[in-house]
Amino acid sequence: MPELPEVQTVVDSLRPRLVGRRVVAARLKRTDVVRPEGFDLAGALRGRTARTVDRRGKRIIIALDDGNRLYIHLGMSGRLTLNEPEAAMARHTHLVVELCTRDGEEALQLRFVDPRRFGGIWWVGRDDPGSDIGPEPLGLSAKGLGHRLSHTRRAIKSALLDQAVVAGLGNIYVDESLFAAGVHPLRAACELTAEEIGRLSRAIKMTLRRAIRHRGSTLRDYVDGAGEAGGYQAMHKVYGREGEACVVCGSAIRRLVLGGRSTHFCWRCQRVSGPGR
Ligand SMILES: [Zn+2]
Repeated sequence: MPELPEVQTVVDSLRPRLVGRRVVAARLKRTDVVRPEGFDLAGALRGRTARTVDRRGKRIIIALDDGNRLYIHLGMSGRLTLNEPEAAMARHTHLVVELCTRDGEEALQLRFVDPRRFGGIWWVGRDDPGSDIGPEPLGLSAKGLGHRLSHTRRAIKSALLDQAVVAGLGNIYVDESLFAAGVHPLRAACELTAEEIGRLSRAIKMTLRRAIRHRGSTLRDYVDGAGEAGGYQAMHKVYGREGEACVVCGSAIRRLVLGGRSTHFCWRCQRVSGPGR
């Protein structure tokens, strides 16, 4: 499922081709992908121009020239792509936005496809599209992260998946970050030492930056705004590698299920007990 690096890659690939284009028409093929329910998204988009395209957490935020904003969440299987109008329409295309020509470039269509429909389109108007989620991990200090984790006894894996604690991380990058930091996924979040928090903070930033550089991870559905797959999946050290050798110590990578989610870790490199216990 798309996480921060994938969403950032989609945003970066859409921005140069989308900003400044006026919406000629929008066709919503499934109304239940839009929140609030019953909102006339096609009517609100018609005649407007995309002013900015940004990311907040796992949300793709599009600001319009009238000051209104909407965000798209890709959920599990969502894709937001710019296509030539004559390109074949994928199944489960829920929204098609016809964009006019710009600076002599051809007309394009912005298409939202989501077979599993865990994603959707949220119209937020003038409200802050990120007011209900935690801070961005790339801008969060180790102290700030430690403060946010100090209030919960939940497993560190579960705490980092909680978008209200920190926004943008999902299953892949939490597992990879915990491995890079040498922290076991079941450790209680509030019991991590300052040294461990420091390692974790650095590991999260390093993992996310590398994944962004490699344009995210494609496991099944994810593609960027131009329909291209990512390349970071080949560099995963624990995620999806159950039974394979740890790149550091050679032990078999293990998998456990926590809160219904697969968790991958190295039992030797990531210790259950904290230092000094
Ligand atoms: Zn290991």
